[in-house]
Amino acid sequence: MYLCLTKYRLRNFMLQTLKTYFGYDSFRPLQEEIIHHLLNRKDALVLMPTGGGKSICYQLPALLNEGTTVVVSPLISLMKDQVESLCANGIAAGALNSNNDETTNAALRRACMEGKLKLLYISPEKLLAEINYLLRDMHISLFAIDEAHCISQWGHDFRPEYTQMGILHQQFPEVPIVALTATADKITREDIIQQLHLEKPKIFISSFDRPNLSLTVKRGYQQKEKSKAILDFINRHSGESGILYCMSRSKTETVAQMLQKQGIKAGIYHAGLSAARRDQAQDDFIHDRTQVVCATIAFGMGIDKSNVRWVIHYNLPKSIESFYQEIGRSGRDGLPSDTLLFYSLSDLILLTKFATESRQQNINIEKLQRMQQYAESDICRRRILLSYFGENTTQDCGNCDVCKNPPQRFDGTIIVQKALSGIVRTEQKIGTSMLVDILRGTLSSEVAERGYHHLKTFGAGREVPARDWQDYLLQMLQLGYFEIAYNENNHLKITASGSDVLFGRASAQLVVIHREEASEVKRGRKRKPSIPVQELPLGLPHTESEELFEALRQLRKRLADQEALPAYIVLSDKVLHLLSTSRPTTLEAFGNISGIGEYKKKKYGKEFIELISKYY
Ligand code: ADP
Ligand code: ZN
Repeated sequence: MYLCLTKYRLRNFMLQTLKTYFGYDSFRPLQEEIIHHLLNRKDALVLMPTGGGKSICYQLPALLNEGTTVVVSPLISLMKDQVESLCANGIAAGALNSNNDETTNAALRRACMEGKLKLLYISPEKLLAEINYLLRDMHISLFAIDEAHCISQWGHDFRPEYTQMGILHQQFPEVPIVALTATADKITREDIIQQLHLEKPKIFISSFDRPNLSLTVKRGYQQKEKSKAILDFINRHSGESGILYCMSRSKTETVAQMLQKQGIKAGIYHAGLSAARRDQAQDDFIHDRTQVVCATIAFGMGIDKSNVRWVIHYNLPKSIESFYQEIGRSGRDGLPSDTLLFYSLSDLILLTKFATESRQQNINIEKLQRMQQYAESDICRRRILLSYFGENTTQDCGNCDVCKNPPQRFDGTIIVQKALSGIVRTEQKIGTSMLVDILRGTLSSEVAERGYHHLKTFGAGREVPARDWQDYLLQMLQLGYFEIAYNENNHLKITASGSDVLFGRASAQLVVIHREEASEVKRGRKRKPSIPVQELPLGLPHTESEELFEALRQLRKRLADQEALPAYIVLSDKVLHLLSTSRPTTLEAFGNISGIGEYKKKKYGKEFIELISKYY
């Protein structure tokens, strides 16, 4: 029906619908092209990073088309979140899944058959079960396959049910299909197209850059220092939601206990907990009853919470894909968010062991090496990430630790010689922790047992703190002065270039270590998320009041609790900042705020402008 409109009129119509329902004034890159393509009833594959704005790509066509758009989604929590936020914008949507009781499902079925829903979310199992029943009785405008990477065995979230969806195109040849994912690698991409039998699909790849996420790596920290750094970090983010990823289940528990002891509300999430406990942990986080979730990688796919302000990786992830997806869960609303990764030799050794013992050994080792490259980078870290996804940039980002504090080097020859001589004098039969003990002159029982305290190097590096030794050793590994023999109890072996330094034939440049947490805390640095001026409505004041922001936050919480909705679904953090910065006092000005559509304007406008008026 839209083909008859001129391009100009269609564009206006699309923009108008975007404003009315979602409150946005313009499209993000690619959204408009994708929507246009789908309105022309053609297939598409959409690759966008988490938070890039995939949902609007099928939700807007759903509103513009007659009939119902069917969205296949792998997780009930994802469906719930999407349906809640659609309904909060006054859009008729529902989710058909095994969690519903029969009455709810019967009502939904009826609504579908009567054409009353604009969007129906459905699990792949239910979709296959209903393919010859309910789906036949509906007028379907579009199929959207969300999290489409679940179709691929190569991906990390493989779902066998997804592989059977090739049948959709056979059964409904006239209905276009859009597959959407944030996982960009090539094999997965081809798998999706092939398995869904997409017909000459257009592939839309948006930039994977997430400039609002700051990137920081801390190297060589041992447990105690990590705990301290984490507490400092969370104090700087007081009251702000965040996720702390750990490699093991037990670690999530000990870290959560450590935080709880400090009065921080922290929950736990891992695959070893019962489904009920996992759901509870997720729900507590979404509704801001806990501030932090300490989780394994099992946590996250169902999380659409837009105001996660930070992500910490307690351990090194095993690939850049996982890392990027995990940090991508912060800052979905586009506001500044912080990410912090701890990088230690012991993690590297353990992950290398896992990768070596895995079935796809070569691929996994290669992936780990790319992750290592990120952690060890002394050039802009964002450039490493983007180049991994095939994007080449010509500029440094200015929002990673390397850009902010470019590494300074010094002549570290003596330090390197001390370490290497420790390795030689123990006949290359020790690992890193024993080496640090020897250098520091720590008489551990193992050192004593092997008589290493009689060595000349024992205590030769006493002046350097243990954690700095860990950092220097990582640097030396990166510089290729020694290797780790993973098949020989992770013993350290000197390389030819290491020998050159040891015997004075070459010098070694090391990077100066900065330890800045203490001073940051003293300064009480809590950075306010700032809204770019061009996003602020014209003709209104532009200074943010923290007091007003807090009051708005409380009002939002009260309204959300009344409806048993997560606060960010009522209004996002970004909208709250826009409100406290521009302070609208009329309904019209309230409705002009980006992110407030007609429905929310009518529903919440009065209470918010009354509150704002008190702050003039
Ligand atoms: P994804 O599914 O790609 O992870 P979402 O669809 O959840 O991302 O979108 C992320 C955030 O960006 C949401 O808060 C959404 O409302 C917002 N958003 C999407 N499109 C636009 C737009 N055109 N203008 C402003 N905000 C947008
Ligand atoms: Zn950078």
